[in-house]
Amino acid sequence: MPSAPKWLFDAVDLIITKLSSITISNVQLLSASLKRISFAGDFSKINFPVGAYIDFRVNATDARRYTVSNVDIEKGILEIIVHLHGNGPGSNFMNGLRAGDVVDLNRPRSERNYYAKSAERLLIFGDETSLGLACAFLPELKKKKHQFLYYLELDEENWNIPEQLGLENFVVFPKNGYFKNETWLDQLAIFQSKAWQEAHYVLTGNASSAQAFKKAIKRNTKGKVFLHGYWLAGKKGL
Ligand SMILES: Cc1cc2nc3c(=O)[nH]c(=O)nc-3n(C[C@H](O)[C@H](O)[C@H](O)COP(=O)(O)OP(=O)(O)OC[C@H]3O[C@@H](n4cnc5c(N)ncnc54)[C@H](O)[C@@H]3O)c2cc1C
Repeated sequence: MPSAPKWLFDAVDLIITKLSSITISNVQLLSASLKRISFAGDFSKINFPVGAYIDFRVNATDARRYTVSNVDIEKGILEIIVHLHGNGPGSNFMNGLRAGDVVDLNRPRSERNYYAKSAERLLIFGDETSLGLACAFLPELKKKKHQFLYYLELDEENWNIPEQLGLENFVVFPKNGYFKNETWLDQLAIFQSKAWQEAHYVLTGNASSAQAFKKAIKRNTKGKVFLHGYWLAGKKGL
């Protein structure tokens, strides 16, 4: 529910249990448009499957979702990576958070299973909004010895961020409409490779790019696709 009347959000806030008095321990500007925000608290009783997200009430009438990118239960640290695109209340709220702020957090949730543990090969596609998911995936992909590849559609100022975040096996693409171009998509190297025919494809980020990529995957492979658009141009919240 990205938007609702104030009274409704107020009523929900009264009845749901929150993680109260969580302190923002660090805010790191990764680039002009990306921030990593660390929260300090006791997260030991919470389950964090890959793709777990938190609904933040970003003003009286709007809530927005952000993925848990990393949790260190022993140190009591939970992190998110936010895209500051400047167009909406979520981005503005995140931009305003400062180290030392104390917040009540909604409990992390996970409605969908992003991670097919049985898949031999996984390709994870997304943009700046998917970097948190990319980080959450990495330890699992390595631990379970999957073959994996990240395809990331990023603004030029963020081309060095995947390396900075310690991601591996990534290919960075410019945001120039490639992922909406059928002819270009059909010529992707993975589609020429036998190995990627039966892979598991996890598509997030820009919903238009993810949809077009899904169609290309269906045209060119027998792989399984999991699609969750994180935002759509012109649409508030998703
Ligand atoms: C399950 C889930 C997990 C998510 N995890 C993350 C995360 O970890 N980090 C993160 O940054 N985002 C994440 N998102 C995406 C984030 O919730 C959306 O980008 C959200 O729309 C931002 O809210 P807003 O109020 O800033 O903009 P909105 O009010 O929703 O939108 C206002 C305008 O801005 C445009 N817009 C929205 N997002 C973007 C964007 N990223 N780039 C350019 N234009 C945009 C919209 O199309 C619209 O035109 C996630 C979304 C989902 C559903």
